[in-house]
Amino acid sequence: MNNASSRTKKLIIIIAVFMCLCNSMVSAFVFSRIGILKLGNYSLPASSLNGTLQGLSFTICIGMVILDYNFGFIMASVCIGISFFGATRAIIMGKDMTSLPGTLNCILYILTLVFISRQLKLRKKIELTDKITNVLNRDGFEFVVRRKIHASDRGVIAFLHLRGMTDININLGRVRGDAVLHAVSLRIKKIIADSGDLFRLGGPEFALYLSSESKSIEIIEKVIASIEEKIEIESENDTVNVYISCKAGISDNISKYKELGEIIKNTDIALNHALKSDVLKYCVFNEEIKKSTDRNHEVEGFVKEAIDNNYFYLVYQPQFYIKNKRLRGFESLIRMKLPDGTFVSPGEFIAVAEKSDLILKIDSFVLRRAMEEFKTVLLEYGECYTLSVNISAKELAIPGFANRLLEIIEKVGFPKGCLEIEITEYSLAIDSENTVENIKKISENDIKIAIDDFGTGYTSLSQLLKLPVSLLKIDKSLVDNICVDGANRDFISAVIYMGHLMECEVISEGVEQNNQLSVLKELGCDFVQGYVWSKPIDFTSAVELCKEDVCKERAVR
Ligand code: C2E
Ligand code: CA
Ligand code: CA
Repeated sequence: MNNASSRTKKLIIIIAVFMCLCNSMVSAFVFSRIGILKLGNYSLPASSLNGTLQGLSFTICIGMVILDYNFGFIMASVCIGISFFGATRAIIMGKDMTSLPGTLNCILYILTLVFISRQLKLRKKIELTDKITNVLNRDGFEFVVRRKIHASDRGVIAFLHLRGMTDININLGRVRGDAVLHAVSLRIKKIIADSGDLFRLGGPEFALYLSSESKSIEIIEKVIASIEEKIEIESENDTVNVYISCKAGISDNISKYKELGEIIKNTDIALNHALKSDVLKYCVFNEEIKKSTDRNHEVEGFVKEAIDNNYFYLVYQPQFYIKNKRLRGFESLIRMKLPDGTFVSPGEFIAVAEKSDLILKIDSFVLRRAMEEFKTVLLEYGECYTLSVNISAKELAIPGFANRLLEIIEKVGFPKGCLEIEITEYSLAIDSENTVENIKKISENDIKIAIDDFGTGYTSLSQLLKLPVSLLKIDKSLVDNICVDGANRDFISAVIYMGHLMECEVISEGVEQNNQLSVLKELGCDFVQGYVWSKPIDFTSAVELCKEDVCKERAVR
């Protein structure tokens, strides 16, 4: 119930009180003076209408209680109390027992109103209570927090999201899933004790209100830790152990807000931020997070429109043989240009697209476009320059990706042996069966596999040995320090040595300086990609470069 509707209800109740008072006045001062009412040939003692007026007042009082079982009940009791007082006064002062039935009616009315108000309260309580956990539900949360806002409370709101409930419901059934939720609610209640309230918002989401005096962050940390401990669920014959994880979004000092909707939105933003993070267990809302969320939404909108509106195009960064600067091939890199001429960097929109399935659209677009553009070049020069295309971890983990890739290659008519798929170390960390199967199928079809960002820490050696990898791409972060850090240089040397042992070739990316180039040459690195020899270039320039390289080749012959 929001403030406006609560004010309207109060106004209606006050009008109703006024009507009841008018009834009492009419009965006390008008009817007693009229004595007998003449209606044509009929006469009627006016006092006999008192009962009708009292009945009318009672009906109005019931309406007040139904409208608001707290405020309405108090006001209705006042109205009936006044009637009761008038009737008893007549009995005591006037020694007139004709008001006795009215007095008894008042007592019955009060009892009836108490009963109705109690029933309404109980019904409301049931409506606001979550059946599984016995704590207040989403409506209850909104009811309580609206009151806190109204009272300028400085407390904290946290949303808790449990991960793993869907699997529990599927594997163990909903009854046990409900038992887990119940167990979780008991743990949380035990920790928050008198410091606040717990609510279940629905599904795997709980909310906490913690008072401003409590050590809210400490409590939330304890709550998360306790939820993540083993939960034992009893069933008829056995006990099952389940584990769930939990993340939280927090809005502190709710007195800053005027609207409940704003608190909910900001706490959701904070929760979403924590859910998307690999490291954060909880996140406290602040303006920075809001800005980055808004920007992400904006960028997501651009990505959705990009393919249909031609915002995407490709550039190609040349890769060279380190020993003679001959052209090995190109890595295709996507670019986004908006109609107003501004660019959105791939670092930004790829990260946004990877959070949804939009990355799959990007991968397909790049594959098709890069192969279509380069097919003519390869056919014209009769050479096999390698075309490297980045493929996301998500795409690679989809069953049947390899088959779809082969279909695209067939449709475009691209020479398979000139294609290289770049996958990041992170894709291998996912270690799904589908990823491995796709990689094997791609390799069996004569397509090269490169491990991108190598050395950033995900791949295990044993995993690498199992896969048909043909190229290791040493990450720029390692190359950056090669001339200043001996350990770094030794590490790169070991990677090159290991790569060659595995019958892989090795390329260093992000090479910017000649001294880095000299060290890499000395260490036996095969190829180089970086600003030192070429930035990413447009397709026309890439074709020119191929032409120059072919001329060099002919000159050598
Ligand atoms: P990446 O695959 O590691 O690509 C190399 C990035 O390093 C490119 O940035 C490239 O322009 C940049 N680079 C190359 N040489 C140098 C250098 O000498 N110095 C410096 N400072 N930078 C250099 P870009 O194009 O901004 O791409 C960033 C990332 O976006 C890529 O990293 C890749 O993860 C992703 N990406 C780019 N294009 C695609 C694509 O078509 N598909 C997918 N799935 N991801 C893409
Ligand atoms: Ca790459
Ligand atoms: Ca890379």
